Amino acid sequence: ALEIRLASRPHGTPTLENFDLVDVDVPTPGPGQLLVRNTWLSVDPYMRGRMSSAKSYAAPYEVGKVMHGGAIGEVVKSDVDGFAPGDTVLHGLGWRTHAVLDPKHATKIEPGAAPVPAYLGVLGLTGLTAYAGLFDVAHLREGDTVFVSGAAGAVGSVAGQLAKFRGSKRVIGSAGTAEKVRWLTDELGFDAAFNYKDAPVTEQLAKAAPDGIDVYFDNVGGEHLEAAIDSLNLHGRIVVCGMISQYNATEPTPAPRNLSQIIAKRFTMRGMLVGDHQHLRQEFVAEVAPLVADGRLKYSETVVDGVRNAPQAFLDLLAGANTGKMLVRV
Ligand code: NDP
Repeated sequence: ALEIRLASRPHGTPTLENFDLVDVDVPTPGPGQLLVRNTWLSVDPYMRGRMSSAKSYAAPYEVGKVMHGGAIGEVVKSDVDGFAPGDTVLHGLGWRTHAVLDPKHATKIEPGAAPVPAYLGVLGLTGLTAYAGLFDVAHLREGDTVFVSGAAGAVGSVAGQLAKFRGSKRVIGSAGTAEKVRWLTDELGFDAAFNYKDAPVTEQLAKAAPDGIDVYFDNVGGEHLEAAIDSLNLHGRIVVCGMISQYNATEPTPAPRNLSQIIAKRFTMRGMLVGDHQHLRQEFVAEVAPLVADGRLKYSETVVDGVRNAPQAFLDLLAGANTGKMLVRV
């Protein structure tokens, strides 16, 4: 069996040296436990935060220990009621070929309802993040103009499309390549999109949203947040889902320099964690699974093969190599 461990904590942008690939014996399940052979691993930006020792909402990874995270596998051994060999389960033990699990930490997935890896992305945590951010945090209303950053990523691509389905007047996205920008407008139905590397975000957003924006779904922070504040209409809402532009920062980053507009515009800005919105999971799946099944909601996955390549997939994710959800196929 193979697993990826945190070898050292990165300073700034992580490198392959921060990870170890270790060959271990296939673990033996104890009584009442499951042995799972993983098939898909999730690669996520929040892992960058857990690689550092700073206190945050999720405990730091321990140096020398496996990189935990979302994973899907097939039950190989089970003496537990309700779990049989061949069952597909979702769990959180991360970047390894095999995992031993207590059943309370395994969620069964009904195969056939959707392709299995969708449960790590569009029908999983990143899809739920988009859903909760728009509807539970930003309280999206019909007729809103919505700006989504990181729009070609796992969360952003779902957020933009859901905003459109729920009657937004105009949905604008930003992403880091011309190809991603084309995908947003030509395939996903965004009304406008721009490459944030082409020109200052404030300028490009003002052009794309001549009547301003009502909701900003922030995946990026920094210059994007500042631009959104400039374009925000009276009583606008900002949902802060992520600030990926700052995850590798080695110095404290400046606040948006225009934050004082919060008074005149009376806008609200709210951080979110998907873990607080688990109660929406059922309604989310009920609404989104049919959209996925009949192709109205489009999604993309960038798939990398082999556990050994999970660290490179992670570095590539931070550098923007993915369109949609970044996954490792074991
Ligand atoms: P993505 O699929 O969006 O992948 C990350 C993307 O970020 C890259 O593809 C890259 O795309 C973009 N990016 C990287 N660096 C920068 C930068 N400096 N400026 C702008 N864009 C950059 O990941 P997810 O969909 O999983 O996550 C999106 C965001 O949501 C992240 O900030 C993440 O931390 C957050 N998140 C928060 C959750 C919560 O509960 N609050 C839950 C899940 C995710 P590009 O080519 O466009 O640069």
